[in-house]
Amino acid sequence: MNNSSCSIIQDLLPLYEDKVLSPKTAEVVKHHLEKCSECREYRTHIHHVVRAMQNQNARNNYRYSEVVRKIRRSFLIELAVGAAVFSFACAALIKLASRE
Ligand SMILES: [Zn+2]
Repeated sequence: MNNSSCSIIQDLLPLYEDKVLSPKTAEVVKHHLEKCSECREYRTHIHHVVRAMQNQNARNNYRYSEVVRKIRRSFLIELAVGAAVFSFACAALIKLASRE
């Protein structure tokens, strides 16, 4: 298989895997894969990369849940601070009121 057609097919493989190629182009890629072992190997490599990316996404989701937990925690702290400020203000008002 000549190198330039291989590099074109390899560029198209991610799109082929995502099934977003036009039927005609997909057919060309499919025929090439049947004849070319190098591009079949490349396709296997792409599968590994895609799987690694999916794992990465899973990790990102984990981080996202961490972020949500942190946001919730800081919200609770804000509530506590707000309650403290409110009770301090009430105490000050009661003191002022009791002076008169
Ligand atoms: Zn090839």
